[in-house]
Amino acid sequence: MPHPLSPRLFHDELVRHDRAELARRLSAAPEQAALRAIAAAEQGGRLTEDDYIALLSPAAAPHLERMAGAARAITLRNFGRAVQLFTPLYLANHCTNRCVYCGFNTGNAIPRRRLSMEEVDAEGAAIAATGLRHILLLTGDAPRLTGPEYIAEAARVLRRHMPGISVEVYSLTEEEYALLADSGVDGMTMFQETYNEELYARLHPAGPKRDFRFRLDAPDRAGRAGLRSLNVGALLGLDDWRADSFLTGLHARWLQKQHPAADIALSVPRMRPHVGVFDDVHPVSDRDLVQIIAAARLFLPTAGIVVSSRERADFRDHLMRIAVTRVSAGVSTAVGGHAGAPAQDGDSPQFDIADTRSPAEMSAAIRSLGLAPVFKYWEPLEGESFHCGRASGGSGA
Ligand code: SF4
Repeated sequence: MPHPLSPRLFHDELVRHDRAELARRLSAAPEQAALRAIAAAEQGGRLTEDDYIALLSPAAAPHLERMAGAARAITLRNFGRAVQLFTPLYLANHCTNRCVYCGFNTGNAIPRRRLSMEEVDAEGAAIAATGLRHILLLTGDAPRLTGPEYIAEAARVLRRHMPGISVEVYSLTEEEYALLADSGVDGMTMFQETYNEELYARLHPAGPKRDFRFRLDAPDRAGRAGLRSLNVGALLGLDDWRADSFLTGLHARWLQKQHPAADIALSVPRMRPHVGVFDDVHPVSDRDLVQIIAAARLFLPTAGIVVSSRERADFRDHLMRIAVTRVSAGVSTAVGGHAGAPAQDGDSPQFDIADTRSPAEMSAAIRSLGLAPVFKYWEPLEGESFHCGRASGGSGA
């Protein structure tokens, strides 16, 4: 598929960073550079790329407590005590890709199915009954079965139950994102998986997802189409976590510059067990993840930070005290997993979750941390659309 012509593409930014040279800088940053970066953040300064590299380096690791304290103060200043709640809704698990690390990989013999609109409605009602008012719609990558029209129709059904709808689906064109925006979708998440273009090609041996650049530019296209919430991330463990974390942060900062009216966030998912085989994992310890999150907060004071239910409950609680602003609750990663129907074909989960708390349990936990759970964090004004990057009602074309 041809890439949209644009003078401002994040790929231009990405190729400034030679991978080997970046790895060298990330491993060799001096302790003084890390301490300078922490002090600058504590004083409210805007950190440079060199600062961010120092914060992600081994030299910063002995100063993790101080980094976490600074991250906490910055988070309180910019987000107050609010922690937003959402839940994923898996619409389908059909997929034409062969991502070697995913349980929905087309080569894995699992039952496949797609929700009917009646089932989508039932899922929405079941989620709304828990009090949640924001959902994240997911599909595999099978445009003939779950094309943009299908996702848009599901969004229109779910708007009866939910003011806030985001998508985490395959890369779309700007026009397709505009269709979703017109159907009630206000945000998107796109995991680049890894920013290492050569590794990416090996991890994605077949299917439309092989197109690294089309995926990389998807959040920008979504922003131009009018989605107000853009969330990026790498799947930590596929490659060296320092380099992928650094490039995720750069991507988020680049999007903030390109789309100043949008809410930019980053996710920090670690690899989890799944159906199939992928054992070439680069380990990311709990301490590493704290460093990744604290460094991100110091580099990106106003970006949302999302931690999924892949993480243990006690560890997520710890991360919320530092810098996390958005968490999932009441999670099922199976298609149609919310409405309480008996298990059936297609209910195989994409990956195992570690934090199984319900929305009520998660709210109680958040309150016990001295924080405030937020169930509804976005609602468009009646009769208005969601556009922050294009004229209201336009097609985005
Ligand atoms: S990660 Fe997404 S695109 Fe890749 S196999 Fe899984 S569902 Fe399909």
